[in-house]
This record gives sequence, C-alpha cells and structure tokens, in this order.
Amino acid sequence: MFELPPLLLALAFILVGLAAWFLGRRNGAARTVRLPRDYYVGLDHLINDRFDHAAEIFARMAEADGDAAEIQFALGSLFRRRGEVDRAIAIHTRLRDTGSEGLRDQAAFALALDYQSAGLMDRAERVLEELAASREYRHAALDQLVSIYESQGDWAKALKVFHELPAAVQLERGGVAAHYLCELAEHALVQGDSERARTLLRQARTHQAALPRADILTAHLAERAGDRSAALALYLHALETAPGLALEIIPPVLAIAREMRSPDMLGELKRRLTQSGQVSPLQLTWLLATAVTAEEVPQLPAVTASLEGGVHSATEASSLSALLTRIGEAGGRYQCDECGLNSVGWYWRCPKCRAWDSLRPAVFKWAERADHPVRAS
Ligand SMILES: [Zn+2]
Repeated sequence: MFELPPLLLALAFILVGLAAWFLGRRNGAARTVRLPRDYYVGLDHLINDRFDHAAEIFARMAEADGDAAEIQFALGSLFRRRGEVDRAIAIHTRLRDTGSEGLRDQAAFALALDYQSAGLMDRAERVLEELAASREYRHAALDQLVSIYESQGDWAKALKVFHELPAAVQLERGGVAAHYLCELAEHALVQGDSERARTLLRQARTHQAALPRADILTAHLAERAGDRSAALALYLHALETAPGLALEIIPPVLAIAREMRSPDMLGELKRRLTQSGQVSPLQLTWLLATAVTAEEVPQLPAVTASLEGGVHSATEASSLSALLTRIGEAGGRYQCDECGLNSVGWYWRCPKCRAWDSLRPAVFKWAERADHPVRAS
C-alpha cells in the first residue's frame, strides 16, 4: 500500500488538469488532448517525492511556453515546498509584475506565501495588506495575515485584522477572537494590571458567552483579590463547562479547599464532572487519580469505589495514581484531538496543528481504550 500526502496529490491533480488545458489550448484544432512525455516523467518524479527532477522538467516545460502561467504557478509552489524560496520568489514576482491583470493578485498571494516561508514577515505583511484591497483575494489575504500574527503571538494585531473579516466569518470564529482577548488579558495579569485584564475578559465574553478560559482567568483575579470563594465558584463552573480542563483546574481547586478547610472537595469535583455528562465513570476515576496530589490520593477510594473501574483501597489508589502519572510524564499528559500531538504541558492552541481548544487529557483516551478495547488482529 502506498499513500500520497494530500497536498502532493492535490498538486499532481492540478498539474494534470492544467497541462491538459494548456496543451489543448495550443492544439486548438485537435479534439484529443495529448500530454507530452516530459509531463508524465515530471509527474512520476513528483509522486515519488523526487522534487529536484520534477522541478527541472517542469521548468523546461514552462520555458518552452512562456505563456503557461499556471505551470509557472505550480513550479513556484514546488520550489517553495522544496525550500528554494528565492526561485519561487523570482517566478511569482515576474508573474505579478508582467502577468495579465487577472493573474497579478494570484501571483501576489503566492509571493506573500513565499516571503512567509522565507521568514520575511514584514514583506509578507506588506503584500497581504495591499491584497486586502482586492476583491477576489481580500478574504484569503486577511486570513493569512491573521495566521502570521497568531504565529508571532501578536494578539492585538490578530484581533484588529479579525474585525476586518466578513461579519459572518467573525460570528463563526467568535471563539478565536475570545482567545485573542484572553491572551491579552493574561498578559495584562502578568503586568499586574488587573483592571485592564478585567476589561479584556468582559470583551472576550461578548464574542462567546460560555468561556471557561475567561472563568479561569477571572478566578486568578479573584484569588489575587483574596476572594477565595469567588475563585472556587468560577473554577468549578469552568470545570463543569469544559471537563477537558480538569488537569488545569483540579489542582488549584484542591489548594483553595485546603486553605479554606472545606471538606469533601473531591466529592464535589466528582459531582460536577458527572453533571457535565461528558465523562465516563472510568475517565472520571483516572482523571482524579492523575490530578490529585499525593496528599489526596488516600481519599480516592471513598469517592470512586462506587464507580465502574473505581479504586477500593489506599494501596490500589496510590498504584493507579503513580502509574498514570508515570505514563503521562513519559508520553504526554495531553493529546490533541485534531493532530494527535502528545504534550506534557497544556496549550490553548496546539503548537503543531494550530487548532484552538483541541488538547484534552490523555487519560480520556486511555480510559476510552480500556472501556472499548480494540480486538487484537
Ligand atoms: Zn494539534
């Protein structure tokens, strides 16, 4: 079995179509489109990841018909993917400056991607800002700008460009704008500016009403102001809305409970997580066993014994807790739902696939596997 990477497959597919189109156009009289031998050879190199040979052949084809803009575009993106950004930039600059009216924006967009992959962010930004004035490429240019600012962690600029997107898109991606504002609020918190943090969190909630991240940050503010009960209520509310945040929320909750000497906080956590309806009994047991400190481990049997997969003795509790902690430290306590990345630390946005809110405790998956074991093949 052999599988093509999706992007390569798409590129190969486009190349077939384009070559057919441009050859058909050249031989207008003939009904049958015949592809030259070079084309097949080039495609074969592409499919087999021999980019150098493919690029050489397509460059020759493009030279043979200087007019074949689409082949040049394909060649340009091929160079970019191979890391030969200078050559990609040369091709796209020529197309932008000398190409027909309809091609200029397409070439400018490709050029911005070249600059971006060369790390020339200033230039990429400039080209994209100009493109934002075009009708056809406005949306794509704004999207690309947002992704540049996101990757730079420039949340204020990302937010500014976000507000230039079409209203429907803003509505659909409200959760992302809320994250930008939470990022800014976190920064304000680090700077010690509680008032600004509060304002930013209020703005965040206008984009998305149920916002566990804002609950957690508001809980930090409450803790800072010495209001432990308010902090506790906010943490528990966030936990009920998003059980996936349990590993981030349970430790501060238990710390506050210890300070306030409130009894049976583990029981309360169990109740809230059960109420969320998003966690199975086994997931609940394993989550608690992973999140509690050694001090609370002996309380686990009292809370989980009635659950399926629960622990019944202090010894059982401590070996389960030690085992899960060890696996988490070795293979990652979190896993990305989108790309499968394993991570020891928590991120609101996956560092690999850049999806927001995609990490969840790895124990969830381990418990799912234990609940529904895959039959050995
Ligand atoms: Zn991911």
